Amino acid sequence: MAEATVELSDFNFAGDDRVVPFQVEGLDVRGRAVQLGPLLNAILGRHEYPAPVARLLAEAIVLTALLGTSLKFDGKFTVQTKGDGPVDLLVADFTSPDSLRAYARYDEDALAAAVADGKTSPPELLGAGVLAFTIDHGHGMQPYQGIVPLDGSSLEEIAGVYFRQSEQIPTKVRLGVAELLDRDEAGKPRHNWRAGGLVAQFLPQAPERMRQPDLHGGDGDEREHDHSEDDAWSEARVMVETIDTDELTDPQVPIERLLFRLFHERGVRVYKPQSVLDRCSCSRERLKGILDSFSAEEIEASEQDGEIAVTCEFCSTTYRFSPEEFTAA
Ligand SMILES: [Zn+2]
Repeated sequence: MAEATVELSDFNFAGDDRVVPFQVEGLDVRGRAVQLGPLLNAILGRHEYPAPVARLLAEAIVLTALLGTSLKFDGKFTVQTKGDGPVDLLVADFTSPDSLRAYARYDEDALAAAVADGKTSPPELLGAGVLAFTIDHGHGMQPYQGIVPLDGSSLEEIAGVYFRQSEQIPTKVRLGVAELLDRDEAGKPRHNWRAGGLVAQFLPQAPERMRQPDLHGGDGDEREHDHSEDDAWSEARVMVETIDTDELTDPQVPIERLLFRLFHERGVRVYKPQSVLDRCSCSRERLKGILDSFSAEEIEASEQDGEIAVTCEFCSTTYRFSPEEFTAA
């Protein structure tokens, strides 16, 4: 499929919840950028997470939107963290062409203790563990999974390390989350979540230009690192590092404007945006299928007050079944 390109000067802004692919020809950089508003409010609002948990999940959601929309085939892309911190699990997945869902699991007592101690940075909440990216093509194919340790860095840093180590692509990821207060039509104060993010990758024609100095403190690897970073990538990387969180999330600064500010001198071009929708893939039929595989004892154990209620962890929808649907007459 040919991608329509638009010059920034006569561009209609993509708006919230639309991932904007871009290219900076002069720097051999390709990337994607997004601002999330309604989607984020819908997902986070459904769960009533404490603010530090909501922020963390919002970062995972932005990352999932940025990376999931880059799939070139029908499938599912999942970002998942597992750690020993108060927030032991974050899951966000994107199913092509446009469906995103997410949830977080946390220990209330451990979280309250962390908040009391002022230890609510993302690394402190996640603890030690792993970040996994899973790409599932479906059709019975083995999913591909890439794993990087949660090493006390932020999610954006860890994601960057993943691309650098696993994909050998110099990559810079930025993620930002903000809580905004405004007023609804009736003038009542209203709380809004916003988030934004950007991923930039260095993809020159000549692969030898992609080599980078090794990471400091990397798994005891003391091989010589005599190659220095390519100038074009240095420039792009530094530009991306200058972005403030405020700029990523500001409703007054559409993401195209940010891209223009960063890269206009190098010839930035944007492509057709891709919508991301708050949509879960759960269904009554799917859950019934799972319950169908339960033994009579398991069905009995799942029953409460004469019914079996199953709540989807992602979207909080509760499906109710009668035990008679599963017990053989
Ligand atoms: Zn669901």
